[in-house]
Amino acid sequence: MTARVIDGKEASGRLKGAIAAAVADMKSRHGVTPGLATVLVGEDPASQVYVKSKQKTAHELGMNSFQHDVPATTSQADLLALVARLNADPGVNGILVQLPLPKHLDQFPVINAISPAKDVDGLHPESAGRLLAGGDALVACTPTGCAMLAKDAAGDLSGKHAVVVGRSILVGKPVALLLLNENCTVTMAHSRTQDLAGVCRSADILVAAVGKAEMIKGDWVKPGAIVIDVGINRMPNPDGKSRLVGDVDYATASHVAGAITPVPGGVGPMTIACLMVNTLKAAAAQRGIKDVAIPTRLPPK
Ligand code: NDP
Repeated sequence: MTARVIDGKEASGRLKGAIAAAVADMKSRHGVTPGLATVLVGEDPASQVYVKSKQKTAHELGMNSFQHDVPATTSQADLLALVARLNADPGVNGILVQLPLPKHLDQFPVINAISPAKDVDGLHPESAGRLLAGGDALVACTPTGCAMLAKDAAGDLSGKHAVVVGRSILVGKPVALLLLNENCTVTMAHSRTQDLAGVCRSADILVAAVGKAEMIKGDWVKPGAIVIDVGINRMPNPDGKSRLVGDVDYATASHVAGAITPVPGGVGPMTIACLMVNTLKAAAAQRGIKDVAIPTRLPPK
């Protein structure tokens, strides 16, 4: 058996199409253009690439984007002052502070200073609490992308056994809550889980968010399961270059699973698209707009 490849690029394209249509609708009927502010502290090359691609996607979808490049030497107080200005700016509906911050800065006071209404990264404790309470929340983007891909692949998730390996606040916990909201029976596994292979083998939906290259092997996967691989691990090649691999051993798992996300090209492309959904959603909530179709799942193919 060879698994169906869950193409995150194709899926994110469908989602972006729906977002662009909603943005155009919001502009034409309400005169509101969603605005995303991104804050980049320092010159980390990977962060520069991520922020650039978020800005580019916002533009492509018809949103306003505001880029704030801050020197690596900036103080905590200056960064908090910038967040306060963005909180007060009515043209800014979403604020994303690119992580990680340089070592001398503490990310938690910065995340906590972002107005929960503009918390499009979904990392503020109020956003996490709203998700836990089952209310309407701005949910972290990677977990939202995982849940959308799983739902798109499975159709109905109700009653399925989902195993989420990893319990970070950034990925594992919110993915588990989203799948619970979809009426999955959820098991959260982590580094102290006993018989991890056996637990994984019981999953209809297996989400790997561990950060350990190719840890989950094909014989850990239930035949026909849907496998969502969040991991991004850089592996050295014999030629001195490197390649990206996931937390799942794709070569073996893809012969057992029913459907599987590749790395790269699976979960990754969904993350930015979900950031744009959050920006649209934040703009609608801030302006009291209720009649624009904000995508909550992937549109059909
Ligand atoms: P963290 O390091 O914060 O969390 C890792 C989790 O995996 C922990 O809960 C840990 O358990 C668990 N874990 C570690 N080792 C094992 C093990 N041997 N067996 C079982 N569980 C284990 O990582 P993140 O959640 O931030 O990220 C996970 C992966 O997802 C990384 O590869 C990261 O690069 C990737 N990622 C990808 C994104 C994307 O857009 N595609 C976005 C964000 C992250 P414990 O709690 O017990 O220590």
